[in-house]
Amino acid sequence: MMLGFLLARAGVEVLVLEKHADFLRDFRGDTIHPSTLELMYELGLLDEFLKRPHQELQELRGQVGRETFTMADFSHLPTHCKFIALMPQWDFLNFLVEQGRRYPGFHIEMQAEATDLIEENGHVVGVRIATQHGIREVRANLTIGADGRHSVIRARAGLPVVNLGAPMDVLWTRLSRRADDPGQTFGYVDRGKLLVLLNREDYWQCAFVIPKGAADEIRQRGLPAFREEIAKLVPFLRDRVDELRDWKDISLLTVAVDRLTQWSRPGLLCIGDAAHAMSPIGGVGINLAIQDAVAAANILGPALLQGTPSEHDLRAVQKRRMFPTRATQRLQLIIQNNVIRRVLGSTKPLTLPWFFKLFQRFPYLRRIPARLVGIGFRPEHIHLPAQDLH
Ligand SMILES: Cc1cc2nc3c(=O)[nH]c(=O)nc-3n(C[C@H](O)[C@H](O)[C@H](O)COP(=O)(O)OP(=O)(O)OC[C@H]3O[C@@H](n4cnc5c(N)ncnc54)[C@H](O)[C@@H]3O)c2cc1C
Repeated sequence: MMLGFLLARAGVEVLVLEKHADFLRDFRGDTIHPSTLELMYELGLLDEFLKRPHQELQELRGQVGRETFTMADFSHLPTHCKFIALMPQWDFLNFLVEQGRRYPGFHIEMQAEATDLIEENGHVVGVRIATQHGIREVRANLTIGADGRHSVIRARAGLPVVNLGAPMDVLWTRLSRRADDPGQTFGYVDRGKLLVLLNREDYWQCAFVIPKGAADEIRQRGLPAFREEIAKLVPFLRDRVDELRDWKDISLLTVAVDRLTQWSRPGLLCIGDAAHAMSPIGGVGINLAIQDAVAAANILGPALLQGTPSEHDLRAVQKRRMFPTRATQRLQLIIQNNVIRRVLGSTKPLTLPWFFKLFQRFPYLRRIPARLVGIGFRPEHIHLPAQDLH
């Protein structure tokens, strides 16, 4: 959506295809990072964007056993917004659609599912789509596979994937929030358990991290046992865990960390989760997808205004974005293997590790995780100019 908007803003004809009728899906990534907010500022859209309902997260805090600590402080970032904005993904996407519609080249078709690639002489020249009115062909100078971590486009293109593995899955749910609850977003860690609570004002968005593949076993133990696990880990939630009445209230995210070794073929480029599914650590999936879109617009926009980008242009996008992808995934794997795996495998009460104690002693150290999470590696900036609408 972001790439569609940026290209249409520059004067390129774009058709965005979306298989669903709307964007209303719960428990999608809702974190808009300072680097994404900075792009909104560069586009002159920040004030309008921040008028949408959102919450602002200035710090990331945690509790190990009984000890609390702050691990990231965004207040020193060199960006206009020194916070992560929590906004439902459908609001963010609808905002981008509204912005895109200001440009004549922007088109979007809902309930249009790409099912296959159309190829001619070794070039991808479009996609076949399934709509309510049957199968149709859409032809284009360039096809972008931005269809997420279960990408049909990347599968049909036969692009090679490296799976990096993950020791955990996540159960997402929500519990009501009371006025006298702690205000901050918090990660609670204790023997074998990890629960992250995101403050969404009237409710807590809860991410319960479980060992990979353990969801069935947890379901078999039953809801009362699951409620008790949450209440034991975070006692102030005990008076409302009964709100979880059905497993339908709890969504499973099967965590996958992977990346393509080749992101393009003649006429086709994959970006975002379709090119690299990220671990949920740091909540950076949206940010990386947005950064890919900006890099792709900067690199391919000029060529698309003339016609068809070359294979060299397409490879240049991968070249630009591979380093941040690899570096972020490397960090995520280190945390997965050294922290998450250890926490999930522990049977004894946990104490705060020494490096988190350092964050308490030397608060400026909290700026490092803040920068890695809030801005990340190689932040992109808007270089593709807007077309003159007058
Ligand atoms: C439960 C959950 C929680 C998450 N939490 C966070 C978080 O807190 N922070 C964060 O940064 N990231 C989070 N993520 C990851 C984040 O959602 C993704 O990294 C990010 O949305 C990737 O953007 P994308 O545009 O590449 O793909 P997506 O956001 O997955 O978008 C792909 C779109 O393509 C559509 N589509 C799929 N297949 C087709 C097709 N064949 N034809 C047409 N349309 C199709 C889909 O309906 C979807 O709208 C979470 C993911 C999940 C599943």
